[in-house]
Amino acid sequence: MSESESAQRRLGEQPMLILSEDSERTSGRDARQSNISAGKAVSEAVRTTLGPRGMDKMLVSDDGDVVITNDGATILDEMDIEHPAADMIVEVAETQEEEIGDGTTTAAILTGQLLDQAEDLFEDDVHPTTIVEGYHTAAEIAAEAIEELALETEIDEDVLLKVAKSSMTGKGTGGVTAERLASVVVDAVDTVRDETDPNRDSIKVQSQAGASSAATELVEGIILDEEAANDAMPARVTDADVAVLDVELAVKTGDVDAEYSVESVDQLTAAMESEEEELKAYAETIRDLGVDVVFTTEEIDDRVAAYLARDGVLAFGDLSGSDATAVANATGAARVGDLDDIDAEDLGFVEEVHTETFDEDELAFIEGGAAAEAVTIFVRGGTEHVVDEVERAINDALDVVSATVRTDAVVPGAGASEIAIADRIRAESDAVEGRKQLSVRAFADAIDAIPRTLAENSGADPIDALVDLRAEHEASGRAGLIAEGRSAEVADPVEHGVLDPAAVKQEAVKSATEAATMIVRIDDVISAE
Ligand code: ADP
Ligand code: MG
Repeated sequence: MSESESAQRRLGEQPMLILSEDSERTSGRDARQSNISAGKAVSEAVRTTLGPRGMDKMLVSDDGDVVITNDGATILDEMDIEHPAADMIVEVAETQEEEIGDGTTTAAILTGQLLDQAEDLFEDDVHPTTIVEGYHTAAEIAAEAIEELALETEIDEDVLLKVAKSSMTGKGTGGVTAERLASVVVDAVDTVRDETDPNRDSIKVQSQAGASSAATELVEGIILDEEAANDAMPARVTDADVAVLDVELAVKTGDVDAEYSVESVDQLTAAMESEEEELKAYAETIRDLGVDVVFTTEEIDDRVAAYLARDGVLAFGDLSGSDATAVANATGAARVGDLDDIDAEDLGFVEEVHTETFDEDELAFIEGGAAAEAVTIFVRGGTEHVVDEVERAINDALDVVSATVRTDAVVPGAGASEIAIADRIRAESDAVEGRKQLSVRAFADAIDAIPRTLAENSGADPIDALVDLRAEHEASGRAGLIAEGRSAEVADPVEHGVLDPAAVKQEAVKSATEAATMIVRIDDVISAE
């Protein structure tokens, strides 16, 4: 017996435990099957929401909070998913949301379909490595196809309006049309953009229930969730000099201790008087500088607020740091940390500041700032649920318009791009050898799921629709399934103004391929209990 053989014998006699007894392990076919099923199940959950005729989901949390939405990322985010492979689909949607802000449902569906196709390929004994290679090859072909699908039109306001509208059609936006919201969104981007830099961060969205969603409007400035420090302050100030402070307009806590180690009534009176003087001095410094509106990130003592109100100054205390930065950026004010250091140069300017009360909420509108452009889309809606969904639709639209401004490329929507991509992958798959060809073609079949799902969701027969789409694509080079009323018709999406940013499609292909191939490669799941 050789040395190594005897070593093995010894090991064989005493089984070596490398995992704790509590851990669970599934390998090979079982592991793959479980991962693929979980991934497919999650992707299946968002399928019915795709496209303008997609349905909504009602999500109820443990504590009874209800969210009604059509937004893939939101649905997946709210679902309490525990299976690790299923969680990877959620990550696909999150990545898509972070990178582009739209196309989350598309990406999740595509991932599920790639897994579904992989399941069939496994049945046909295609090795995981071959599947992965085939998917990567197909993804490269898809990326090239998307580049070539980009329309050769100039990305002007008309195109941006169409992109915005396409991203919002079918969302539960209450009484307001997608056209109206699209024009608010494009106005917002046009106000702050810098050539191909959309300046997305300069656009805020502030929502407030209590009026029809048709009242949603663009405010050329910022809106803060703040009320005036004193009721007697003016509700509206025009042509205002603005101070932005990080100063506590109250008696300093340190001073209080010193002041109260007093031994006589006289001393106490003196202490209180000096306190009063200190507070009055704050208000006087502000008034003497000619400040009309003051914002501070610290507390404003009621007495200081009363002095300021008497002088006709509007003041807001306890601002968040980011709100203070926003006000400073919009008005051109410098943030000042010490009142002794402030001078006229630190002040900003704004055309108008006013406060408005909505039910219990008070909002401050800061409009027409002298410095950088900052705009806010003020979202209205009859109820909280409507406002939330309008806000999600607006954010999607802001993201697609920004992506279009940045990348300067749009592709036909309504499934037309997917039909073209799948067609291209199939054509190029002829040159791929062996079983890998099966895998490349399977990728094309997965892409077909997007137009097929659009058809299903609009009540059309999915098989007929795919046949019609392919025939029309063959004949005219461009065929989408345009939602019309209660059904859908095969037509040219460009003529119907249904356009998506190329970046949405690129990212969806990329992230879905990454997630699906990662799941396919796994043949062992070891979980600690
Ligand atoms: P995602 O989360 O993937 O963005 P959506 O529910 O927003 O999902 O649906 C997007 C799909 O709907 C895109 O493929 C887009 O081209 C398509 N679409 C948008 N408007 C129309 C329309 N009027 N008719 C048909 N399809 C449309
Ligand atoms: Mg969308």
